[in-house]
Amino acid sequence: MRSVTGSAAYLGNVSGPACRAASERDPVYLQPIGAVEHHGPHLPLATDTLIADAMARAVVTEHPELNVIVLPTLSYGLSSEHLWAPGTISLGAATLLAVLDDVGASTVRAGASRFCLLNAHGGNTHLLRVAARELRARHGLTTFLAHCDLPPDNGGPPGDPREEGLGIHGGISETSVALHLFPELVDMSLAERAVPSWINEYRALGFERGAEFGWLSNDLSASGVAGDPTLASAEHGRESFAAAVEGLAASLAEMADFTYGQGPRRP
Ligand SMILES: [Zn+2]
Repeated sequence: MRSVTGSAAYLGNVSGPACRAASERDPVYLQPIGAVEHHGPHLPLATDTLIADAMARAVVTEHPELNVIVLPTLSYGLSSEHLWAPGTISLGAATLLAVLDDVGASTVRAGASRFCLLNAHGGNTHLLRVAARELRARHGLTTFLAHCDLPPDNGGPPGDPREEGLGIHGGISETSVALHLFPELVDMSLAERAVPSWINEYRALGFERGAEFGWLSNDLSASGVAGDPTLASAEHGRESFAAAVEGLAASLAEMADFTYGQGPRRP
């Protein structure tokens, strides 16, 4: 089975017949998704979209052996928690589900059987889990959900201890990746520590505890940041981005071969 490589890995770069022919190789259709939302005063509104797009490009560039077709990055996501902040442009939850249903159905018409969401925005995560199941149920797709960087409030690792497990938005990890990928859009002179330590005074309530609370980003800090971007560095961003790309490549390799009801085939 030949993989789809080079610029042909991008759906928008090939013709319709070429796309149909590529589908016969049963590639993973990869849908990057970000957000246009407030990220504190130091990061651009498109931070998540730029990261999702960069990661999709990096994985097919560095791993041409992967059998993947990259769909155009979906810039808008579900950003209800940042709607208080100017510049945030959010789809509603029902709208985003409907958009993903339409996109998934369209890939099926192109011959797709495997569909992966690549998410760069924590606020999308729970809805994308629903979408992955709905696309499976409604269209028979084999669906997957991958993360550029799963934050602690969505079940990801706690991150740098200096953020007390609360570095979920605009903090060390995200600002570091931004400094690596698009430093010209970052203004570190405006970066300020905003760790909502009060959350950890509760024992039964909080992220990934017995019960959760609903929150908007300005419930966590006045700036809308949850984390400490002053500790960010481009070098840390380079390392964490490279590790995430490798992790995604490993996941995509298994997705291309994944079959319900049986373990991976070994060469
Ligand atoms: Zn973000």
